[in-house]
Amino acid sequence: MRTLATVWDERYCTAAARSVNSTTKQADVVAMAVSVLDVRPTTFDEEATWRDVAKVHLPSYAQAVRTGFPRSLAESQGFTWSPAFATALARIWAGQYAAAEIALAEGGFVFHPVSGAHHAGIGSGGGFCTLNFLAGAALRLIREGRVERVGIIDLDAHQGNGTFEWVRGEARLAHFDISGSSWGVDVTPKWATYRVAHNARQYDTALRELDAWLDDVRPSVVFYQAGADCWQYDHVGGITGVDRAFLARRDMRVLSALMVRNIPTVINLGGGYSGVAATLHAQTAVIAARLLNGDATLIEVEPDADPTVPIWRPRQREDLAWRPRHRHYGRDRRHAHRWGGGSWRVGPR
Ligand SMILES: [Zn+2]
Repeated sequence: MRTLATVWDERYCTAAARSVNSTTKQADVVAMAVSVLDVRPTTFDEEATWRDVAKVHLPSYAQAVRTGFPRSLAESQGFTWSPAFATALARIWAGQYAAAEIALAEGGFVFHPVSGAHHAGIGSGGGFCTLNFLAGAALRLIREGRVERVGIIDLDAHQGNGTFEWVRGEARLAHFDISGSSWGVDVTPKWATYRVAHNARQYDTALRELDAWLDDVRPSVVFYQAGADCWQYDHVGGITGVDRAFLARRDMRVLSALMVRNIPTVINLGGGYSGVAATLHAQTAVIAARLLNGDATLIEVEPDADPTVPIWRPRQREDLAWRPRHRHYGRDRRHAHRWGGGSWRVGPR
């Protein structure tokens, strides 16, 4: 049986995200999917990685993330900075490029189980995202002349507003984004497709545009953000009617579309904050491994449990204070989640 090539380092995990699972869930995903994974050794040059980060992000921001100063900028994504967290971010940055190299060399799918890129912009983090390793690996591949065009398929439940800061000025960076709320930035270049889906039916309609987008932009390599925060009961995302079976069909559809076109693909996690997020991400890996073995039958998925499954909640509402930079509001006022363009601050107001 062919296993799924995987780039992974347990040092990716830290305690930086104290109130969400963003910096710990990766280990759970790897543990759940381990039987289908083939973890590859990679090398890590920290100095060279930070030099690369400073070519993509503003050097002052890269420096802040590396050193922790100024702290407000280093923690602009809403996490708690530490030296271990900074090194983990650099490892993830390098890992995304390493995963892309394997995908380009061998074809097929490479699993890089990380999240936390797409709200990070050129000069700051946002919405639990610090460094945009998607833009980083893509722009390096382009800069080095190794690919004609990189495609980012962002199926996290939120718009990849940070990624768009690079996409809007770079036609070799193509973007396909389905978001569960109308929050976001305007996206106009013809190499970017942005759709809003408020429920499973609209999501399905939007997903049907993927084939045309792939045939139009013809990416040399794709980074697929298989977001699990679209799951209907996810506290932070949550799109009506999107259950576990829907997400399995979504992943099958996306990965099949890439496979029939022979497009090397790196699969990342994206958001997913519920108690079943790691299970949903592992499900993506299993589907990819099955496809690599020529098995396109839908996997059997447990029906959704009722929404009382453990989900992330702030320990205290008062622990979370929002510092908006500009006005974009999430669809769901119940949770008052406002993404990007500012940052969650954990701690006293
Ligand atoms: Zn999200």
